[in-house]
Amino acid sequence: MSGEPTAPIFRSEEELAKLSASERIRYRLVGADCRYHANDNIAAFIRPGEMDELRSEVEAKMQGVLESLVIDTQSDHNTNETARRVAKMFLTEVFGGRYVPMPLVTEFPNVERLNELMIVGPVTVRSACSHHLCPIMGKVWIGILPNEHSNLIGLSKYARICDWIMSRPQIQEEAVTMLANELQERVKPDGLAIVMEADHFCMQWRGVKDINSKMTNSVMRGAFLKDPNLRREFLSLIGQRN
Ligand SMILES: [Zn+2]
Repeated sequence: MSGEPTAPIFRSEEELAKLSASERIRYRLVGADCRYHANDNIAAFIRPGEMDELRSEVEAKMQGVLESLVIDTQSDHNTNETARRVAKMFLTEVFGGRYVPMPLVTEFPNVERLNELMIVGPVTVRSACSHHLCPIMGKVWIGILPNEHSNLIGLSKYARICDWIMSRPQIQEEAVTMLANELQERVKPDGLAIVMEADHFCMQWRGVKDINSKMTNSVMRGAFLKDPNLRREFLSLIGQRN
């Protein structure tokens, strides 16, 4: 059954060619001992042309889901093309951050030796929960305290990196940590703070149907952990009480 980890047994190119694209990609991931959870990026394991194959695969399986939901996609013109649309949406839009490499980001040395608090945001977040694949819509604020050894990246690049990480089935706590790790590695600041506030549609559309619940998460690193004044300054500038 697909979806279960396959043992890393050796397969010849000829054998691999007979497998589906998802089986080939999974074979490479398992062989490299690489995790492929919902919020992992697997772009390095996808070969040219395989995204089109994945799209056909997802479309066929999505069509099966619609059939099992007893929806007459033949005569219902609204759902006629739904499987195809959903496959495209998953692979290239809402979960696109799993399948493409990180956006190119140019880093500049901090020649002006900027060392003041810098805040980026609110950056709009569109994601989906890994548990139900329901939308998560929210905002992220990023606080950076650079030092003379930091790299600076263009403001719009923060939004692009954020989007790349959020366009996957996510768990909010893991998403903010992933974003923090990525920015820490690139910018190498003295302090890094991230706050994410989001509506989880799995709380509103299903389950408890509480339309007013928001979830807020933060990550504080370096100077933001050590210096309560800096932390307070950041939180007050983004309009969070604490
Ligand atoms: Zn959920």
